[in-house]
Amino acid sequence: MKEMICSFCGKSQSEVRRLVSSPDGMSFICDNCVDICKEIVKEQETRTVRSKFVLPTPYELKNYLDQYIVGQDSAKRALSVAVYNHYKRLNYNFGAKPDVELDKSNVLMIGPTGVGKTLIAKTLAKILKVPFASVDATALTEAGYVGDDVESVLSKLLTNADYDVKRAEMGIVYIDEIDKIAKKPESRSLSRDVSGEGVQQALLKILEGSTVSVPVACGRKHPHQETVEMNTNNILFICGGAFVKLGEIIAAKDKTGVLGFNKTSDIEPSLNYKFAKQVRPADLVEFGLIPEFVGRLPIVVGLDDLDEKALINILTTPKNSLVAQYQTIFKMDGIDLKFEQDALCEIAKRAKELKVGARGLRTVLEEAMLDIMFEAPSKKSTNSIVLTSKNLKPISTINIKNKNYTDENKISIPN
Ligand code: ADP
Repeated sequence: MKEMICSFCGKSQSEVRRLVSSPDGMSFICDNCVDICKEIVKEQETRTVRSKFVLPTPYELKNYLDQYIVGQDSAKRALSVAVYNHYKRLNYNFGAKPDVELDKSNVLMIGPTGVGKTLIAKTLAKILKVPFASVDATALTEAGYVGDDVESVLSKLLTNADYDVKRAEMGIVYIDEIDKIAKKPESRSLSRDVSGEGVQQALLKILEGSTVSVPVACGRKHPHQETVEMNTNNILFICGGAFVKLGEIIAAKDKTGVLGFNKTSDIEPSLNYKFAKQVRPADLVEFGLIPEFVGRLPIVVGLDDLDEKALINILTTPKNSLVAQYQTIFKMDGIDLKFEQDALCEIAKRAKELKVGARGLRTVLEEAMLDIMFEAPSKKSTNSIVLTSKNLKPISTINIKNKNYTDENKISIPN
């Protein structure tokens, strides 16, 4: 009998793990050559994706962001330009040997919690159809300490890119709470600061663009974990943080009062974020970021705190607004859900009191709607519910069971 050999590499059956026959039994391919073919096809696909990478203009990017993010106009503009330039640079560097290599510019977003920093970064990745990963800087440690190595940031991106290294290398990473890894004032004089400076140093390596050995699976260190080489040169890093004390640093230097305060005691950090638009690198260094790290974040963008009007807009205007989401849920039970303006105002007011930005809206709504969501689906005669803020009662005491639903019921938001 004729010996079966791989028609591609010529190895015999005994030299390979598997040999697959063609339907007519005339030719064969070994497992190794299958892997090589897969790589070639993938490489080809990535090249096609790159060549088809049609970059929206900053104007288009901003228009798209406007559909999902309320307010934050200057941040959306600045981010649209930054992202546009980043991917323009990427297209340029991919082209025939460029004369001038363009350096990348990562971005730092400064603003209180829950005002849309992560949402902007995530939405930009969605528009551009690039992989996205969001991580918390406080979970990271420098190599050798208990916690996640900074490489885990890239592992997450790789996982979100379906383990396609080339795609991951074009992705966007959002690192939240970057202000929490600032050097602590008491440790600034010491030579080493594990919690802050060490992590900044470790992050620096991936932020500036280098080839890193990345564990394939996310999670804690494992001695035999498989790793792949990833180049971070084209990954856009967007860092974000509240930088509450930065207001004090800048206020201390603000002799003019243009920032709206003359004395540090005037600052109500969660409210006054005017300073975020005036930040200079030296202020960030004074805050506790190391100069090299600041140097890797040349674009600094300030975000505004959200007032009640903005919170009402967030409830109602974005494409997938919370109101639209609740209405969709009720629609599935054949119920038209309407929110009266005073109900929206009350929800926004309560959310504002929670001091977690727009994040508070869902918490307030879930609490206010729980009984209604529990009762309404079993009331077959109900096909319309109108939410008002009249006769507000504590949520725990309202008795929705006693309400006799008719076609047009007005239900007050429980207080
Ligand atoms: P952070 O600034 O802390 O990163 P996020 O972007 O994670 O805040 O916001 C939390 C949630 O609040 C978002 O998922 C979104 O639903 C809502 N949100 C926050 N800010 C805005 C905004 N400006 N426009 C629309 N929704 C927002």
